[in-house]
Amino acid sequence: MMKIHDVSVSIYNGMPVFPGDPPPDIRRVVSMPAGAFNVSLMRTGTHVGTHVDPPVHFIEGGYTVDRIPLDHLYGPACVIELPDVDSVTADCLKGVDADIILLKTKNSALWESGEFRKDYAYLDEGAALLLVEKKIKTIGIDYLSIGRFDGGDAVHKILLGAGITVIEGLDLRKIRPGRYTLACLPLKIKDGDGAPARAFLIEE
Ligand SMILES: [Zn+2]
Repeated sequence: MMKIHDVSVSIYNGMPVFPGDPPPDIRRVVSMPAGAFNVSLMRTGTHVGTHVDPPVHFIEGGYTVDRIPLDHLYGPACVIELPDVDSVTADCLKGVDADIILLKTKNSALWESGEFRKDYAYLDEGAALLLVEKKIKTIGIDYLSIGRFDGGDAVHKILLGAGITVIEGLDLRKIRPGRYTLACLPLKIKDGDGAPARAFLIEE
């Protein structure tokens, strides 16, 4: 039987964001019963919660979030579980054969703290180069950056420079490793440098 797993985090005021990113600020501006309906104003950075990085995030002149090929955002995906590593190396990914790879690390548990944590697991540069060599479409990770806290720029530049789509901020706590179909749907922000996304994994 088909099962659909939500792998995105909720967006709310006070949620953890990457230091320096504008946090979400969501407030009701029309309320019932005084108003005829309920509507809120939402202000937020484009890299809030579960979100997608297009090339232009780190590559000047790279394409924008509204131009990401849709087959990078929907299709067969492999969830790899690496619970014991602080950094994901090329060795961890050598045997993986998939166009869309999602990394389930110790990070998924960090969502429970409700605060930003610097000690998250990340992809190292050797692994990024391997993924470029493998010509994958998309790499996802279960925290707010694919690169390490201090100096994650190089990994972003390697991946985004090669046209690999990056999904950050996944919640894979409840997901077993294996094969799924990914649907990751970032908001279509015109010329956007990133966008929050609803993401789910379909299990056949
Ligand atoms: Zn990002």
